[in-house]
Amino acid sequence: MSPNGKSILISGGLVYDDDGDTNHPVRADISIVGDTIVSVDPCDGGELRAARADVVIDAADRLILPGLVNAHYHSHDALLKGCFETIPRETWLLNALPPNYKPRSLAELRARTLLGAVECLRAGITVVQDMVTLSPMDSESVEVVLAAYAEAGIRCVFSLQVGDVHGAKVTPFWEEVLPQAVHGDLSGVVSSDEEADLLVARLAAFHRRFEGHCDTVTWGLAPSSPERATPAFLRAVARLSDERDLPVFTHVYESRATTLIARQKFSQWGGSLVSYLDAHGVLGPRTSLAHGVWMQASEIEKIAKAEASVVLNPVGNLKTRSGVAPISQYIEAGVNVGLGCDNNSCSDAQNLFQVMKAFAGLPAVSNVVSARPTARDALFAATVGGARAIGLANRVGRIRPGFKADLTLLALSDFAFVPLNSAARQVVFSECGRSVDTVLVNGRIVVSGGKVLTVNEAALRHEIEVLMQELRPEISAVEARTAELRPHLHEALRRTWEASLEVNRYVSN
Ligand SMILES: [Zn+2]
Repeated sequence: MSPNGKSILISGGLVYDDDGDTNHPVRADISIVGDTIVSVDPCDGGELRAARADVVIDAADRLILPGLVNAHYHSHDALLKGCFETIPRETWLLNALPPNYKPRSLAELRARTLLGAVECLRAGITVVQDMVTLSPMDSESVEVVLAAYAEAGIRCVFSLQVGDVHGAKVTPFWEEVLPQAVHGDLSGVVSSDEEADLLVARLAAFHRRFEGHCDTVTWGLAPSSPERATPAFLRAVARLSDERDLPVFTHVYESRATTLIARQKFSQWGGSLVSYLDAHGVLGPRTSLAHGVWMQASEIEKIAKAEASVVLNPVGNLKTRSGVAPISQYIEAGVNVGLGCDNNSCSDAQNLFQVMKAFAGLPAVSNVVSARPTARDALFAATVGGARAIGLANRVGRIRPGFKADLTLLALSDFAFVPLNSAARQVVFSECGRSVDTVLVNGRIVVSGGKVLTVNEAALRHEIEVLMQELRPEISAVEARTAELRPHLHEALRRTWEASLEVNRYVSN
């Protein structure tokens, strides 16, 4: 590892630049001082530069990408991968979200945060936007999660997911078909009985207390979704975002149900969650809307005009049977698009190679005319677009002087790149994460030879095994409760799928 202030030369690799030749990137030397890229120069043998660098990485057999940006992620269910089949989002939420579990130990919070970070780093992801639900949401828990991010060395845009609309109200027909006794328990997020202003004041206090503790952690705000947020809460979020220049992350139109609730309960805003956000000050360049599967054309235009971002999570959307987002429409409308891997219990991998391939391929269900997205578009979304979506534009996402030294080096000896016909296309269509060899975050080498240097991987595996002895029975209990409710949940879904809606995101129905 090279401590900040030292210099690193990455010598002679193929350096990917979205503005350059994305099939055949040029060979260049990257010089890093401290946390920043200071020069990217065509190769001249590099002997002079190498003599001056503290650390030299020979990258002759490497393709160097800007570190991949996981622009939508939740660390809270990192231990739940592989627990569930493909189930509808509204059912899945009941199995996945922390408020449905007993409070977890601080040891578990630390281990799950580290696990998610390690998985990301091993897959070439250098930054995550973690929209974490902590239940309870207290200082100790926040501190443990942030310390785990500092320990792992991955960059994190941290946000606490909250809402102030409770239980069954946020999902169509739940109030009618589910037993009254469980309505209050069905909160998809950490809700609060606090007044909106008090809830936002708590978020502001957490931010004030912990900001700046770690160079690689910045903050954002995460009202879980518009339907889970009152106007007063959104206005308070907008004020805080303005005052402190914080990005705002929220889920919009993930599923048919979240779209129908807009038509049922937001008629004052034309049945549009985008208009609802806009009316309360939460639609602008700092806003990032996760999913946007069921967005209408007029709303896409509105998002483009507001210079807000959309973060697409195509793999998670498939696993939760939520449909396919209008990917080509977003690109053609000029919306800034980022990509996310979403939860580990709904995708179930922190792997942007999978996501890029799905993003590039899924428009096939509705679009045979447009050439977009291309492989370059997919890589752009996973780097430049994602960086902008999470408030890090012009700081990460490109390999340019002045950018932070967040880099992913892929081994070109991997058969995904043999023969090397096109860097962009083979990253998106051939690679699955196997070739990730070296990863730098903020000028620090955190992965080398495919192994994470900052975390003892074997010890983490062992620790998780022990923790799972307590968590497993809890998962079974939560699933058993969901199973009991299944006839009611199915009835709500049946009505949701029968209701007429002017937009369709399934291939046919
Ligand atoms: Zn999410």
